[in-house]
Amino acid sequence: MSTIKDQAICLRAVNYSETSQVVTLLTRDHGKIGAMAKGARRARSAFDGAIEPFAYGQAMWIASPSAQKLDILTELVQSPRFRLLRTNLSAMHAGLFALELTEAFCQSHDPHPALFDALAAALDHLTRCQRRDSVLAVLMDYQLTLLDEAGIAPVLDACANCGMIAKTLPRELYFSSAANGLLCGGCEQSFSEKRRISAACAAALNRRLSAENAPGNALSEAEHLLIYHFTELLGRPAKMSKYFVSR
Ligand SMILES: [Zn+2]
Repeated sequence: MSTIKDQAICLRAVNYSETSQVVTLLTRDHGKIGAMAKGARRARSAFDGAIEPFAYGQAMWIASPSAQKLDILTELVQSPRFRLLRTNLSAMHAGLFALELTEAFCQSHDPHPALFDALAAALDHLTRCQRRDSVLAVLMDYQLTLLDEAGIAPVLDACANCGMIAKTLPRELYFSSAANGLLCGGCEQSFSEKRRISAACAAALNRRLSAENAPGNALSEAEHLLIYHFTELLGRPAKMSKYFVSR
């Protein structure tokens, strides 16, 4: 059994027994791992205290010989990199939403260094967001990156069914999760699962407009659409989606 060392972000932590935790970590070069952190809830531990979502640092673990069993976390040198996230409620909710979706869409032991870097950048960015529109823009951009990295990037610049590219976007378009993208007027009738979206929303999704450039209502509509899409993909609403649907 060999010890592995890598940068890690905690996606989820569950208490286990009086003193231990079971943690899900996204590591940069080794993908998602599930690990037992023995004694993590003791005041003095090899993990700098209890491990919470957003915990970041150098992790050391012993890989389990069986894919069904948890790895054993032996050390986590925590850095306070994302600690400020907890001081801004909407940024924290967006960060937790990003963690939840990352856990749902990443396969264990499947490394995606670019996704790790994108998640770290998104959390860094969120710690500095003051306005809700900026929070939404960062969340949306990360959600699209996650879909790219998972190999299921939706088609947002043409009809996902017939490939037609409109020179100018019609005022109203449709999006279908089953088609994995936009639908043109000629194709939308063949799909029962679809949702009407505005051209401004399609533009916000397609160009990943920053908060400075996209009207707030287009960002809000785009985030609602992504929540709809993630719900279809997961077969259930993500837990954190409720913080972003009522507005
Ligand atoms: Zn079409």
